[in-house]
Amino acid sequence: MPDRENLERRTTELLQRLIQFNTVNPPGNEQAAQEWLRDQLEAVGFECELLAADEGRPNLVARLTGSSDGPTLGYLGHVDTVLADPDDWSVDPWSGEIRDGCVWGRGALDMKSQVAAEAAAAILLAEEGWRPEAGELKLIFTADEEAGGSKGAGWLCDNHADKVRCDFVINEGGGDSVEFDGRKVYFGGVAEKGVFRFSIVTHGRAGHASIPRIGDNALTKMAPILEALRGGRPVLEMSEEPEAFMRALGINVDGDVGAAFEELERRDPRIALLVEPTLGVTMTPTMIEASGKVNVIPAKARLRVDCRVPPGRGEEHTRARIEEAIGDQEYELRFDEMVEGSRSPIDTDLMQHIRDFVEREDPGAVVAPTVLPGFTDSRSFREAFPDCIAYGWFPRKQMDLFQAAPLIHGADERIPVSDLGLAARFFAELAPKVLA
Ligand SMILES: [Zn+2]
Repeated sequence: MPDRENLERRTTELLQRLIQFNTVNPPGNEQAAQEWLRDQLEAVGFECELLAADEGRPNLVARLTGSSDGPTLGYLGHVDTVLADPDDWSVDPWSGEIRDGCVWGRGALDMKSQVAAEAAAAILLAEEGWRPEAGELKLIFTADEEAGGSKGAGWLCDNHADKVRCDFVINEGGGDSVEFDGRKVYFGGVAEKGVFRFSIVTHGRAGHASIPRIGDNALTKMAPILEALRGGRPVLEMSEEPEAFMRALGINVDGDVGAAFEELERRDPRIALLVEPTLGVTMTPTMIEASGKVNVIPAKARLRVDCRVPPGRGEEHTRARIEEAIGDQEYELRFDEMVEGSRSPIDTDLMQHIRDFVEREDPGAVVAPTVLPGFTDSRSFREAFPDCIAYGWFPRKQMDLFQAAPLIHGADERIPVSDLGLAARFFAELAPKVLA
């Protein structure tokens, strides 16, 4: 095992350097960062390949192979980031500056930190002469995640399945911690919701806006529909992941889902707010368009709704929920995007490794399986390799979920150095266990 302090220091330096590569997507420009990572990994014995869908935007696949057959453990991460407006920040977002015990900069949480911890752990292991006894350690650093991954994980899984195939994947989308009832709870990402974005279209008849009743206003027909979608509360439906989550928190889930959720809400409304979307189909209206001119009554209006659906549920279920929510109105429903949610089994050896790690590092704390309301690159891996177990896991102990959440995609994104060390220890410990 690499020395604790050395591992934390190397991870910190690696993150600082990664932040200094501006990989804001669009345009991404991941090339320089990926080449730099490749050089670090190649120097300690990894076989590396840059695979690009688009010029200047490569993905990196680095492999360390054992002497006998065995499983492939993948450490996944994306090196692109969302944009940052320096005017809103207290430091230069591409400085990687250390202040108050944290590394600051765009990507410090999402997710150059995890890339740094995965890479530093792998580099130190390899430097010290470790090789998998069986199987293979694979580092997969993608481009383009923040714009949907069509040139990153999705493209890799579609075009280079053999090169990125994994039995186990650790990716972003979990590891946040919260305090609940005096106990620390870590979220272990085991599933992600699907995306079923839809449009509601209303029809009417055009006319001059100066005589309101000469036409039939398609836009005002949206009023009852918007009213119906107000509030953002899904119809609650239990599924295995939220059930396991609430059980881990000590919530009684033997009765109906409403009672369980009420208990959670009573005991911690902040956590309840985050868990609620995982308990059903959410529908969030975000865009509307109607007349192209202020003096013309619109003959047509279109409302766009961002709709997220629990894993295991498809179009039919979603359609029924939408119709139920909107009720008896005149409208046309069109799905603009339909991607089902994805999940991995909850109780696996890999999860046991995660639980053991938490028990060692934070005695008394528990790991609660969670569904991510959004989605990550894990979705591509679960789709391409149905037996692959993919978890979102990047343990953060010092900075809790409520401190971290506003910084992700926000100003002054930063991560405590101690959390970087913690995560790097997880990655350094896991590979020798899985690939033994
Ligand atoms: Zn991310």
